[in-house]
Amino acid sequence: MLPIWLPVINRFFGEGTRKKETDAEKGNLKSESTESDVLKASGTIESRIIRDKQQISSVCRKLEPIVLVHGGAGNIPDYLVPAKMNCVKKAAIAGFKVLKQGGTSVEAVETAIRVMEDDPIMNAGVGSVLNYDGEVEADACIMVGKTLEAGGVTAVKDVANPISLAKMVMEKSPHALLAGEGATKFAKENHYELEKPGSLVTLAAKEALEAYKKDPEGDLTSEKVEVEEKPEVLPTGSVGAVAMDRGGHIAVGLSTGGLLGKMPGRVGDSPQIGKGAYCDDDLGGVSVTGHGETISKFCLSMRILKEIQYGRNAPEATTNILDRMKEKFNEDGGAICISRDGDIGIYWTAPRMPWAYQRGEELHFGADLGEDNKEESIVK
Ligand code: ASP
Repeated sequence: MLPIWLPVINRFFGEGTRKKETDAEKGNLKSESTESDVLKASGTIESRIIRDKQQISSVCRKLEPIVLVHGGAGNIPDYLVPAKMNCVKKAAIAGFKVLKQGGTSVEAVETAIRVMEDDPIMNAGVGSVLNYDGEVEADACIMVGKTLEAGGVTAVKDVANPISLAKMVMEKSPHALLAGEGATKFAKENHYELEKPGSLVTLAAKEALEAYKKDPEGDLTSEKVEVEEKPEVLPTGSVGAVAMDRGGHIAVGLSTGGLLGKMPGRVGDSPQIGKGAYCDDDLGGVSVTGHGETISKFCLSMRILKEIQYGRNAPEATTNILDRMKEKFNEDGGAICISRDGDIGIYWTAPRMPWAYQRGEELHFGADLGEDNKEESIVK
């Protein structure tokens, strides 16, 4: 499958990058790579200086505000694509508007994700897929690349916008992740308004669970169930966002109902920093989607950023690592990534992943590999 490289960045890292990868393949890079490892691997001091100049020109050209979102990777049938596309476009525009008005990248991420959580077509917030007992148990996380502050919630019930509760955990608690009842207690204490019990459960989600229960031996991914059993009912698609502001500060977030028919109490990749999402202004930001257990074992988002640390650009990093995960586990995933230089990686191994981003006045969007539609945004 061809990766989407948006845009393809021509960087000078050729020899240094290839050398580094060869070392990695030989198993010579046993410990976490440090800045000095990368410097050594990139060649002589002279070549490093040239490389820095190149990076600076890239930085000057591309450190523009950007909001990039995904609506979950999966086997999304044709008839659902327009609605999902519409939702990701609205989310990217809403997030971009926050940046335009002087908001931070973390505020832009929260706003973009809330738009997708509020749309029952997505597997997040209202319309989330149900656990085996018929309940919505949501996961979310948010992270700030400048300070590495992070917050998450897992297995929370009756929370319409888990991304906002995750942000509250980051800002108002001493912890990085709160679960279940503890998270609910924290929400109440901080005047976060919970919904009436069960009110996030949609008819479509109930029907999807019934279909899943009829075939418990089937693939657990909601997308398969949707296509094989009940094409007309199941909303799918975890939602995620990565934003960079004018100063190059990056934030990421992720929100999901998880996997259809999951055991109550299951914790997916999405609330876990380094698995579902990670960002660091010195490297970039990543938000992923796909089979949560696989993503967790593989530490998908951190691995993508490690590739950037080794000198890859964002398109190369997302493609290499997702293909590697597919090879190793035969499980699909998708990722969106903005590197510290502002280059963008959007890639998935599942049949489809709706995505959109706004940079400047242009809105880009797509759902099939190789697709990059453009239109002028309503927010300028
Ligand atoms: N990663 C999510 C989970 O396993 C599901 C998804 O992205 O569709 O909870």
